Amino acid sequence: MVNKILKLKKEKGYIILAHNYQIPEIQDIADFVGDSLQLAKLAIELEEKRILFLGVDFMAELVKILNPEKKVIIPDRNATCPMANRLTPTIIEEYKEKYPEASVVLYVNSTAECKAMADVICTSANAIDVIEKVDSEVILFGPDKNLAEYVAEKTGKRIIPMPANGYCPVHQFDPTSVEKARKKFPNARVVVHPECPKEVRDNADYVGSTGQMEQIPEIDLSQTFVVGTEIGMVHKLRKKFPHKNFVPLENTVCVNMKKNTLENSLLALETESFEVVLPDDVLEKAKAPILKMFEIMG
Ligand code: SF4
Repeated sequence: MVNKILKLKKEKGYIILAHNYQIPEIQDIADFVGDSLQLAKLAIELEEKRILFLGVDFMAELVKILNPEKKVIIPDRNATCPMANRLTPTIIEEYKEKYPEASVVLYVNSTAECKAMADVICTSANAIDVIEKVDSEVILFGPDKNLAEYVAEKTGKRIIPMPANGYCPVHQFDPTSVEKARKKFPNARVVVHPECPKEVRDNADYVGSTGQMEQIPEIDLSQTFVVGTEIGMVHKLRKKFPHKNFVPLENTVCVNMKKNTLENSLLALETESFEVVLPDDVLEKAKAPILKMFEIMG
C-alpha cells in the first residue's frame, strides 16, 4: 500500500502534506508534517502544483487560499473540525452589530467563509503577538473560547469569545489530569496546548502550539515530557527526539483527523479527488486577513 502511494504520488506529480495529528502511518508517508500554517506557507514555496492534503477541511482550505493556482485534494470530505464549524458568518454578523468598535480576529481553525469576514487571522503560536499588535482594545475572537481566555490573560485586552461556547472537544482534559500525571511522572515537564481549559493550562509547565511543543525539548534538558494535545503529536515528538520520552496527558483522539487512512489516501491519488474548490470572492476575501497576519508578524 505504502509503495503504491509513493509510486503514484511521483507519477502524478503530487506532494503529500500531513498535519501533526494524523495517524503514524500517514505521517510516515508524508513529505512534510506540520501545523496548519506551516503547511500552508510551505505549499507556497513548493514547485509541485498538486497537493494531497491530510488533515481536516479548514486546513486544506487554508492551503488553497494561499495557493489558489494549485490543485489541492483531500481523501475524505467528512474530515472536518467541529470547533471551526461552530462559528458561522451569521454569528459573526450578530457580534459585529453588537460590538461595532471591535476588531475581528479569527483563529486559523475557522472556515474560509468566516475568514473572509475577519480583520486578521492568528494561530495558537502567534495569537498573543497578533492581538497585542491589533490597534483595538476590544476584540471579537473565535471560535475557541479557551484560546480567547488565554490571550485575554496575556494581553490584558477585552477579548469577547465568538461564539460564547466554542471549544475543541479533543483538548478538554480532566482538570485533575496534570496533577495525576505529575504523581506518575514526578520528573517530567508538562506541556499543554492553549486550547486546553484554564485549570489544565495553569498547572502545566509550558503552554504552546504544536510547533512550539517541538522546540521545548531542545531547550529543556528534562528527559520526560507529558504532552497535552491530540495523541498524534506524541508520534511526531518521539520521532524527532528518539532519546527522550513523551507520554500523552490523556489518550485523546480527534476522530476527524483520523478519517484519513492509507486506503483513502491511495484512492484520492488514483481518482485525484476530492478537490478543494472555493468561490473566487471567498478565496480573495479570506486571503486578505491572512496576509495581514503575515504583515503584523513581520
Ligand atoms: S483537534 Fe480539535 S481543533 Fe483540531 S481539528 Fe480536531 S476538533 Fe478541530
